[in-house]
Amino acid sequence: METNEQKKIAIVTGGASGIGFAIAEKFVTNDITTIIIGRNEEKLKAAKSKLGALCQTFAFDLNNLAAIPELIKNLVEKYSRIDILVNNAGINLKKEFTEVTDEDFEKIIHTNVQSIFTISREVVKNMIKNKGGSIVNISSMASQYGLPKVIAYSASKGAIEAMTRAMAVELSPKGIRVNCIAPGFIATDMSAKALNNDPERKNKVLSRTPMGELGAPSTIGDAALFLVTSESAYITGVVLPVDGGNSIGF
Ligand code: NDP
Repeated sequence: METNEQKKIAIVTGGASGIGFAIAEKFVTNDITTIIIGRNEEKLKAAKSKLGALCQTFAFDLNNLAAIPELIKNLVEKYSRIDILVNNAGINLKKEFTEVTDEDFEKIIHTNVQSIFTISREVVKNMIKNKGGSIVNISSMASQYGLPKVIAYSASKGAIEAMTRAMAVELSPKGIRVNCIAPGFIATDMSAKALNNDPERKNKVLSRTPMGELGAPSTIGDAALFLVTSESAYITGVVLPVDGGNSIGF
């Protein structure tokens, strides 16, 4: 059961920039109180000034696992409940396979996988009390096929899709839907870093994207809104590519 009648409360991790910002923008425009979390206070402030009163900011490093239970407890005390969690925050690392150190690998897995588990576990405790909620995880095309030079990132995004299914089977009977969006190549700072100095990779991306261009972050915002409203009431456990056809392009 979703709480459609009341104003919903959402957390969007990494909501101060790129895809997360576009999701937060879509949510506030649709009357959802949206708490955005990131490490950089200046970025959060700048985002809030654009998103307005329904946006609340929280400076927090999701790598600080031990502090996540306290963070969620404080947010629940302040906002009374959490209806929506979008696990969007993530980091990338583009390096030759043999250059990736154990520390590099561990760092990506820690931010992109472990912190998603920990924050989800804490938020779900509240969602179970409320008998409902919706979680959206953000994976990547890197989980769907072999992309060179992103070994740790690919492993992390594959884990997110597996966790989505595992969470959905366990939590859907409790009224909590769990879905995943697999963005294709979306025009943000992260993709600019990966593509702008690598014309060969950029050409490959565009040539196998039937729609012929990078996606706008707002396209992910639209999909996220769909997945957290009653428009998608019978959808759980899916991985939805939003990729201009990249995943089926030849
Ligand atoms: P950005 O780098 O703009 O966004 C990442 C966000 O995550 C930032 O706002 C950052 O904020 C936040 N973040 C990173 N680490 C932490 C942390 N430890 N604690 C709290 N917040 C953190 O990239 P995108 O918008 O492109 O990426 C968003 C998501 O979409 C990522 O999960 C990415 O993997 C995924 N994605 C992106 C694609 C693309 O083409 N752009 C394609 C497929 C997937 P701060 O630095 O302030 O902490």
